[in-house]
Amino acid sequence: MKCPNCNFVNKPDTKYCKKCETDLTKPPVWFCDAKWHLKTLLLIYISLTLLYFVVGHFLRKLPPPYEQRIIPPEMTPWLNPKKQIEN
Ligand SMILES: [Zn+2]
Repeated sequence: MKCPNCNFVNKPDTKYCKKCETDLTKPPVWFCDAKWHLKTLLLIYISLTLLYFVVGHFLRKLPPPYEQRIIPPEMTPWLNPKKQIEN
């Protein structure tokens, strides 16, 4: 068994490393590698892209007045000063 601390190759079923006396019964410490980073970042990127389209889809389905793009002139009389608004 290879020691995770000093890379010394011990005999199989050894509890402690012969060289540095590291406990070999413990599971090896996990380190994130480039593959893990790539996988995780890809997952985050895909999730954000999907979220963007899902939220956009539901925002487009909102009922009026949220889908209005033109503000009625009654609401903005200062934009049409010449136009008389009937009360
Ligand atoms: Zn060792």
